[in-house]
Amino acid sequence: MMPVLRPLPDWISSSVEERKKASLHRETEVIDAPQSISPTIDGTPFLSFCSNDYLGLAAHPTLINALAEGAEIYGVGSGASHLVCGHLSPHDELERALSDWLGVERVMLFSTGYMANLAVLSALGRHCETVIQDKLNHASLIDGALLSDASVRRYLHADLSSARKLIEKQSSPSMVVTDGIFSMDGDIAPIDGLINLLSDSKHLLIVDDAHGLGCLGDQGLGTLDEQGIAASSVSALIGTFGKAFGAAGAFVACSNAMAEYLTQFARPYIYTTAMSPAMAYASKSSLDLIRSKEGDELRSRLNSNISLFKECMASLPFELMPSDSAIQPIMIGASDRAIELSAALREEGILCTAIRPPTVPNNQARLRITLSAAHRHDDIKRLCDTLERLAN
Ligand code: PMP
Repeated sequence: MMPVLRPLPDWISSSVEERKKASLHRETEVIDAPQSISPTIDGTPFLSFCSNDYLGLAAHPTLINALAEGAEIYGVGSGASHLVCGHLSPHDELERALSDWLGVERVMLFSTGYMANLAVLSALGRHCETVIQDKLNHASLIDGALLSDASVRRYLHADLSSARKLIEKQSSPSMVVTDGIFSMDGDIAPIDGLINLLSDSKHLLIVDDAHGLGCLGDQGLGTLDEQGIAASSVSALIGTFGKAFGAAGAFVACSNAMAEYLTQFARPYIYTTAMSPAMAYASKSSLDLIRSKEGDELRSRLNSNISLFKECMASLPFELMPSDSAIQPIMIGASDRAIELSAALREEGILCTAIRPPTVPNNQARLRITLSAAHRHDDIKRLCDTLERLAN
């Protein structure tokens, strides 16, 4: 017997239709091979410039073996939250290794970067009058602040004088929050400048370095290291295992006192199942790799790919953002034009996502090119040659 579908109110489908009409419709696509620069869709191979697998580790044999070994020794599921009985030794070892790498007192693991950001901002926001955010901060930071009672103010993107004006108005404890590398623009936050503005210790400074950790700085220590800043100079540093680490899960690096506070008050830490112990085991092997000579080589390959891309694009009639990171957006403007270009690239066997509002501001649709250490120079030349043809 066919199941009877419960009718839905009209706004469910009319909202989706509106998105379609405005060229803002989002869709999921099935990739039927491991995440890499050459995924396949329905068996057809593509050259991909859209994953955040910046070092090409998502299907690296070391990580695959570690995940299998971790599952063999510790099982697949953690079975409980960290505070009940889901905190296994691979979690503990990963936290200690990350603390050692970053030079901080404590690291706490989270299921995803999104959850880590909800946790930190909602828990700390309880005692802050205002959460002051860069205008282009990631959605999870915006959402985390909304879960607190604090009021939210946003400063102009990476603009220290705009940030200063907001900070100077705060007489009560407040929190300044920034991405390290901005996920849709690829540029770097002026964290040293923010630290200078925050000499009053009643204010907190939170940095989400989801896109910098693993890629930038000595040993991949991220945006802070790139600017000569110790991780312990900020109130909390957030990282994810879902991008350069090639795995899944996330972490918050902070002091003992901050970790103790988050353990007591961060609901997205307390009320959720701990990340898989096998994944924690694999993430530890990814960290070892990131810290090793192989990690240095991958970062240098990534940097060489970024330079080559920028060099090849310089003579083409496209506008790039001022980014030196693996995120290299090509600004298009209109959403329908961004979709057309993404579809035309796809016809040529190249995958590159069109990013449109509301993920980016109105009329700032773009092709978000992400580069990986796994790309060969020929791959980058192929992308640029194809773009040149499509532009004419
Ligand atoms: N912060 C930033 C800046 C991000 O770009 C993302 C992922 N898009 C996240 C946090 C969320 O991380 P995760 O994918 O691990 O949930």
